[in-house]
Amino acid sequence: MAGIYLHIPFCKTRCIYCDFYSTTREDLRQRYVQALCLELKERKDYLKEATVETVYFGGGTPSQLSEENFDNIFQTLQEVYGLDKTIEITLEANPDDLTDEYVHTLRRFPFNRISLGIQTFDDRTLQLLHRRHNAAQAQNAVRRCREAGFDNISIDLIYGLPGETEKLWENDLMQALQLHPEHLSAYHLTYEEGTPLYRLRQEKRVREVDEDMSLKFFSQLNSTLRQAGYVHYEISNFCLPGKHARHNTSYWQGIPYLGCGPSAHSFDTRSREWNKASLETYIQGIEQGKRPYETEVLNADTRYNEYVMTGMRTIWGISLDKIRTDFGTERLDYLQRMAAPHLRRGKIVTQDGRLRLTEEGIFISDDIISDLMYV
Ligand code: SF4
Repeated sequence: MAGIYLHIPFCKTRCIYCDFYSTTREDLRQRYVQALCLELKERKDYLKEATVETVYFGGGTPSQLSEENFDNIFQTLQEVYGLDKTIEITLEANPDDLTDEYVHTLRRFPFNRISLGIQTFDDRTLQLLHRRHNAAQAQNAVRRCREAGFDNISIDLIYGLPGETEKLWENDLMQALQLHPEHLSAYHLTYEEGTPLYRLRQEKRVREVDEDMSLKFFSQLNSTLRQAGYVHYEISNFCLPGKHARHNTSYWQGIPYLGCGPSAHSFDTRSREWNKASLETYIQGIEQGKRPYETEVLNADTRYNEYVMTGMRTIWGISLDKIRTDFGTERLDYLQRMAAPHLRRGKIVTQDGRLRLTEEGIFISDDIISDLMYV
């Protein structure tokens, strides 16, 4: 079992909060897709013939790709890895790209999940963030996907935005629920160093929400979505029963994945690799047979910490058996010692040999997880 992540590093314009790797250059798109297909072919042994169950087109803006681009990529995926056993193929899309014609084109390909970067339904905030769509375009995009037959739609929202009030956040949640998405991801805004938004905060032209407000937003998110029947299966992710994101879940469960394209990460359970975050360097490197990448062999402590950090964020928690077998009794003892006070306070529970956060524990997940880290 394995996944493939394809990074599509093109954006029409840049949003002011974003620090993902992407470029507004359009002239290299064709050459890039050829390089990406070459990387997929050259690294076919990375997954050691594990069955590819998920493919994720992320970015950047994958919905900037053309029909011909998708033709090339899917042909390569089919030839090299086979897609017969793939259960989930996700396309991240920007609402403004999803015209009738484009959505119709997407149906020609085996995508069975669309993840829409809506972020908020407040038009003023969308403008401030330099998003290219407005609320009406977002709603229309979801409607078009539905009409075209997509039955697994995810919506991304951001909360803790400048000037956000409980009322505005409630409105975002209500508008999102009216679209009946199968899946919803909601992340707190972070002010990433080097972004225009970070500078605006330094210049005191926007104000960060305080911790109390952040907690209120998170609490509102939890209660609204639970009441609407969504399963809170990862700190920032909610889904209708059975509709969790398979690809992202495999990251949290330590399943190997191959990541292609500039800045993409790969993981084979023992080491991590990441391609350099530069489109030009990437294309040249691939064309010359010298992929620009770095690698890190993960020692047992790092693997333990990663397993605990990602697993504890999910509803499934972490397996005590796996800790013993993969990381040894010393780390298991350590984990149990560090978990004890949180168990006593009802912030975590053990059930069926697994340790996980309780509903209360979710609110202090960062503190609990940092206590469980092996240092
Ligand atoms: S569209 Fe997405 S990847 Fe591109 S700049 Fe905006 S947030 Fe970043």
